[in-house]
Amino acid sequence: MLSREELTYFKKELEEMKLQIESNFKSSSFEMNTLKDTQPKDEGDHASMERGHTIANTLMEKQAEKLEAIERSLKRIKNDSYGICDSCGEEIQVERLKVKVFADYCISCREVIEKETK
Ligand SMILES: [Zn+2]
Repeated sequence: MLSREELTYFKKELEEMKLQIESNFKSSSFEMNTLKDTQPKDEGDHASMERGHTIANTLMEKQAEKLEAIERSLKRIKNDSYGICDSCGEEIQVERLKVKVFADYCISCREVIEKETK
């Protein structure tokens, strides 16, 4: 089991990450709005703007996924199930949690899931 100190540490990490992503969201939606207001001068400009939007959208999606995982972990800390693998119910190694604070699965389950989704 994780010690109280470790839990406090992970909770702090998660909360900081959450704040970071939320402020990223605010600033990137602001950038998107300013982009919308600038009219493209010709086709070339338009194409590069489209590309910019796609990259921004992918980044936003990644961030949104990460935010969801962080919120799941914070909920788990609240109901004392943080650090337990979502698939096999075994404890996730502390070393792994330190690398990926919002990990849902232990290393062996993660590997199985990644193989299945590929
Ligand atoms: Zn597992």
